Amino acid sequence: MIQGHISISSSSDHDNLRQLLKRREFGRFSDSGFKGSSGLNDVLQELAAPALSYKVKRIEFIEAGIVHLEEGICFKSPILAKVLEHCDTLILFIATIGSALEEEAARLNEDNRLTRAYILDRLGSLTAEHVVNAFHENMKHRYAQKGYGVTLRFSPGYCDWPVTEQRKLMRLVDAETIGVTMKASCLMHPRKSVSGVFGLFPQAVNGKKPVYNPCGHCGKKDCNARRHCVA
Ligand code: SF4
Repeated sequence: MIQGHISISSSSDHDNLRQLLKRREFGRFSDSGFKGSSGLNDVLQELAAPALSYKVKRIEFIEAGIVHLEEGICFKSPILAKVLEHCDTLILFIATIGSALEEEAARLNEDNRLTRAYILDRLGSLTAEHVVNAFHENMKHRYAQKGYGVTLRFSPGYCDWPVTEQRKLMRLVDAETIGVTMKASCLMHPRKSVSGVFGLFPQAVNGKKPVYNPCGHCGKKDCNARRHCVA
């Protein structure tokens, strides 16, 4: 079993985040008072504290839509089971950007500065996703050197994976170190946190086939986690 924590605080990591700030959606709000992407970057540097905790677990076997991990833990989701079909290892993660940014957005909302509050909230969501994407990419490169490929990533509450399985994920990953807790509803605090899993499969088993993407034949049109291309 491997576990680790990543604190993302170097300027190069923040340089990568800078790409987010150039999105057209932020440019639409000339009245926000953020002074363009450099102003947004200052806010991000001050209010976002990205961190990620993860654990690596062996997959014992997959049967009847249930993924069985070492130590008797199992996740129930036929879609996840199909995604992990050729995998022998599961990476579980929780990422957050901390609570300062959402607290500032809530304060702005109370002050009726709605545009500014909206931008901060949206920026927070994108930054949390960015942290996870960077981690996924990093693991993809790291394990490629060992002859492994990575699957797409999935979170509790998506597809047919019940959100209540978040409880198991929280027990397995050290969330406390990065300041993430879970409410009775299974939502995480801080709100700008993302949890999930992805699998590792020996490339020799999968050959040159693209990784399985269940979104290609899923009828859930309004899903905001839909992937249009393979990893
Ligand atoms: S579109 Fe993709 S991520 Fe969304 S529910 Fe369907 S399979 Fe899951």
